[in-house]
Amino acid sequence: MSTIVGIIKALNSGVKHLAVKRFTLRYPEQKLKFVGDGYKYDPVSGVGIAGYKGRHMLFHDKCTGCQLCAIACEGVAEAIGMVKVDNKWKQNKKSILPQIDYGKCVFCGLCVDACPFYALYMTNDYELSSFTKESLIYTPAQLAVKAHMNQDVQIAISKRGASHSAELPAPLKKALPQAQPQLESKLKETQEDKEKADDKGDTHG
Ligand code: SF4
Ligand code: SF4
Repeated sequence: MSTIVGIIKALNSGVKHLAVKRFTLRYPEQKLKFVGDGYKYDPVSGVGIAGYKGRHMLFHDKCTGCQLCAIACEGVAEAIGMVKVDNKWKQNKKSILPQIDYGKCVFCGLCVDACPFYALYMTNDYELSSFTKESLIYTPAQLAVKAHMNQDVQIAISKRGASHSAELPAPLKKALPQAQPQLESKLKETQEDKEKADDKGDTHG
């Protein structure tokens, strides 16, 4: 009897897990959507706003060239260098802006925390791989480009664990809701039979 219960339990567990949408994504066709735009920091309230720590976004019109981001990075990765650019801004008389070497950056976010002018935050862009070390160095112009990630797969947490919004193949989607209640009722029936048999055994013993 216990072997049958074991088999049904295993089958039921397998079917339950089949009913959960597959968590594996078909990257790069499917990309998980992260909550928010990315990591930000409010220097006035001293509060970090949770978000994915990906490639930085630099707002040239807010940056003063104060270098605080580069100083913050010095003790971490020395990934930020200040470079001179041609443009001129009222708030940045020396026309210097940060550039970031993603071959060194550890995505700690300290540079974002150090910027008092809301000029720097981190985006959801994590696709930074490159064939050369040089192309991992992002100039101020590259950092000013808003990240456009096609992250259209949503994550959902339910009683059945984490899942994502990508669709199950149609035949499986149709078959599973029918199969599961049958297995669950069979399991219940078998467990009741087993309990009755155990009770009988106790009485005779
Ligand atoms: S996130 Fe990168 S660039 Fe910024 S402080 Fe950390 S290591 Fe340096
Ligand atoms: S990004 Fe912020 S901390 Fe860095 S130089 Fe510009 S204003 Fe200063």
